[in-house]
Amino acid sequence: MKILSDYSFEELEGELSAYPRFRVKQIFDAILQAKDYLDTNLPKTMIEELKQNYILKPLSIEKVLVSKDGTKKYLLKLHDNNLFECVFLTQDYGNTICMSTQVGCRMGCKFCASTIGGLIRNLTPGEMLSAIAVVNADNGKCNARNFTNIVLMGSGEPFDNYDNVIKWLSLITDEHGFNVSERNISISTCGLVDKIYEFTKLHSAITLCVSLHATTDEIRKTIMPIAFKYKIEDIIKALKDYQKENSRRVVFEYCLIKVVNDSERDIKNLKHLTHGLLCHVNVICLNPNGGSLRATTKSEAQSFVKKLNDNGISATLRRSQGDDIAGACGMLRAKTLNEK
Ligand code: SAH
Repeated sequence: MKILSDYSFEELEGELSAYPRFRVKQIFDAILQAKDYLDTNLPKTMIEELKQNYILKPLSIEKVLVSKDGTKKYLLKLHDNNLFECVFLTQDYGNTICMSTQVGCRMGCKFCASTIGGLIRNLTPGEMLSAIAVVNADNGKCNARNFTNIVLMGSGEPFDNYDNVIKWLSLITDEHGFNVSERNISISTCGLVDKIYEFTKLHSAITLCVSLHATTDEIRKTIMPIAFKYKIEDIIKALKDYQKENSRRVVFEYCLIKVVNDSERDIKNLKHLTHGLLCHVNVICLNPNGGSLRATTKSEAQSFVKKLNDNGISATLRRSQGDDIAGACGMLRAKTLNEK
């Protein structure tokens, strides 16, 4: 069945051309405001008709966990009962929604809970849009925008669901819809080089982030299987090409794992790798997911960041939010599936 929120306003007008335009607008508003259709002025007969052919509400909130720091973690349940996560972070500079792009993930990163059960399926553009709508409505007036930024840093690999993610970007930035500025969106990839080249051609103002997590291919291969396919050197080359075309700063995510990637050697390598690239390194301490990997301590991480700065590299230690509510990627879903 087709999902109504997969359509842009123009597409919806075409799809529902049998109905008056103002009805289409009411449906579109119900999608964006995550409203129950019965709470709108739509005739019941029309709702019943639509239900024959379309999924009207692709998801609902299954569970919400609220952290001491205000971070809210949502477990969302799709129409086919699959579960995925979305996080609402309150920050001084505006609220951020951290969105997933897939149910599960097939990238197999050792430290990441999202990938434990593999990839179940891709999220559609409309499912991602409806997730934003549901979380937005839960955090203020449903007809207002209650967030500033969106980061595609939840479960899944955005570039492994490329076409849907790009379509979702057009929906979320649509002036008829949430009208989010590209500058307020970040997309994070573990480094699918082919897709970085494709993304470059879009010339968008979205911030491109790459999960690096190691400074040599040998070490990267031990924690990120994607390193068998793409060399760090090729990622850097693709980013230089991106920068030539887009003049935008790129962000590296670097999750510190004790002994694995937190040595003096790594600082030297990072200096070499980032040379000639306008970039920022977002350092984060590993949020252990029960495996054998251990986190670098906070003070060691602070000293790692200072050394990067001393070497002329723009880097900050990212404040970890929602640690007490299984904040990292896929942890709540993994926990819930385990309990079931
Ligand atoms: N697949 C994409 C999107 C996920 S983004 C990517 O790899 O970039 C989520 C970020 O959180 C990635 O940088 C990921 O490597 C990191 N991450 C995942 N699990 C983590 C954990 N347990 N502790 C710290 N960071 C983690």
